[in-house]
Amino acid sequence: EGEISSISRFSLIALPILLVLSVTGGYLIAKKMLRPIQEISEAASHIEKGGDLKKRIEIGNGKDELHQLANSFNEMFKRLDESFETERRSTSDASHELRTPMAVIMAQCEFILEKDRSPEEYKKALTVINRQSKRMTVLINDMLDYTRMEMKADSYERQPLDLSQLVRSVCDDMALIRDKGIILSYDAGDSIQYCANRYLLTRMLGNLISNAYKYGKENGHILVLLERKNDEILLHVEDDGIGISSEDLPHIFDRFYRADNSRSGKGTGLGLSMVKQIASFHGADIEVESTPGKGSRFTIRFAFTEEKDSR
Ligand code: ADP
Repeated sequence: EGEISSISRFSLIALPILLVLSVTGGYLIAKKMLRPIQEISEAASHIEKGGDLKKRIEIGNGKDELHQLANSFNEMFKRLDESFETERRSTSDASHELRTPMAVIMAQCEFILEKDRSPEEYKKALTVINRQSKRMTVLINDMLDYTRMEMKADSYERQPLDLSQLVRSVCDDMALIRDKGIILSYDAGDSIQYCANRYLLTRMLGNLISNAYKYGKENGHILVLLERKNDEILLHVEDDGIGISSEDLPHIFDRFYRADNSRSGKGTGLGLSMVKQIASFHGADIEVESTPGKGSRFTIRFAFTEEKDSR
């Protein structure tokens, strides 16, 4: 009986203590567990209010679900930040590119309207205005095409295509350009099939060939080759023109980038960024080899297995 009463006395004292301990313990554990969630929600609302996409959720290292969640959020913030940054940069690049011809046009207009000018002066000013307006038109068209492609990448469908036939028809047309006496020849293989978008591929090949003409030398050559090699389809566009220096090579696919070799102002610097965009739409890689003074060779590598995953 004494034992029972000592047990019940013990319980009377110990139970409340245990209860308090477990409640406090539970509270602390819950608080510790909820802290990362609080961090996540604070970071999200901070970003929502201030738009500061540089902020990251910091809850230390760990491998549990909450850390994974925080990492996914951070990854998302990073991606958003990068895409806003690209957007900001391209708007500012685009305005910068348009500002130059616009400034020239305005200066010419002001100059001729200042006082009476001779017919030669009018003619000279109008020639400049004409040239700059054409440049602006090309620029605007290229920018629109580029943006359209960027925004509507999903709306381009891929279908099984006879690439050999596509290459043949683009080359046959473009061989007629014969700019600077340059001769275009090609070998398009034999009905090489691939699942692709006809419009985009035509555009890509067109851009590469236009560049080969633009940066080609008098009486030079352009060679277009389509071949199947192991589990890849390779499309080469090769020229024996002015080539690209090793300093420029890493940048030629950047938007608006023009190497020193093309300061004559012929291009917009958008052609190759479009080529890159189209290649990546098809899951293809691009390679360039170039020797200044000797020529360049652009290669697009399509993974042949891609053919099966028609979209
Ligand atoms: P652009 O409108 O100036 O031609 P691109 O984006 O097509 O713009 O090309 C970027 C730059 O890369 C060009 O300004 C030129 O300097 C260089 N480039 C492109 N293709 C060739 C080539 N086949 N040979 C030599 N340089 C080239």
